[in-house]
Amino acid sequence: NGFVKLGLAKELLQAVADMGFTQPTSVQMATIPKAMQALDADPKAPKFTDLLVSSQTGSGKTAAFLLPVLHTLLKQQEEAERNERAEFERLSAEAVARGEAPLKKPKRKDPTNMRNFKAATPGALILCPTRELAQQVCADAIDLVRHCRGLRVANVVGGIPYQLQIAKLQNADLVVATPGRLLDLQRSMQIKLDQVQFLVVDEADRMLDLGFADDLTEVNQLTIERKQTMMFSATFAPRIMQLATRVMRQPQRVEI
Ligand code: AMP
Repeated sequence: NGFVKLGLAKELLQAVADMGFTQPTSVQMATIPKAMQALDADPKAPKFTDLLVSSQTGSGKTAAFLLPVLHTLLKQQEEAERNERAEFERLSAEAVARGEAPLKKPKRKDPTNMRNFKAATPGALILCPTRELAQQVCADAIDLVRHCRGLRVANVVGGIPYQLQIAKLQNADLVVATPGRLLDLQRSMQIKLDQVQFLVVDEADRMLDLGFADDLTEVNQLTIERKQTMMFSATFAPRIMQLATRVMRQPQRVEI
């Protein structure tokens, strides 16, 4: 499978194989390795990993941004779990050394119980211009995380009852959203964006056509601590370049 050399986690390679993808498309080949440099701990690795990618619908652009983002979230989650386990075992061993019983694993809180409510704090945010596109991207993300135990994906779009969306949103690691509904939920404190590390703007040209420029500026400010931004657009028209300058740091261009 041609995805193996891209260095993706085995859970993602398995999902890609399940979906019947055997070779990465050109946009995937060009984008995935560059995007994954954001994870690189090597101090000599490039400091700026923002990407401006030209891509048409049907090019495989969705997996081109989802795969590197999911890979990084997965690796971070594995590390957090390792640390948590080590800490638990250390505390438990200390208890035993004091002559106490070993610690019991804490029970997981039921996320559908509103008494356990806390604002969602996703690590990755994908913005789409329309509800239909957001739902498609979300469906692709769910396919890709099928072997990733514990990585959660949620969709935030207009036209769906708030309660339903909010229950699913809790504990989401990756959120696929249209800007309007996302900012509604942010203002009502159902979602906090300050933990976002990865921001993707899909179909940036349509985003501007539909009048989302101000919303993008707001999301940019709310996620200002993020590590990486990727923007996908059918064209690199001057208004796209202006937007790129506003929301990215020295973006590399990927033209297919
Ligand atoms: P997109 O441009 O992301 O909307 O993708 C267009 C279609 O191509 C979708 O149905 C994907 O499932 C499919 N696709 C994406 N990447 C690959 C690949 N590497 N091999 C085969 N099909 C793919």
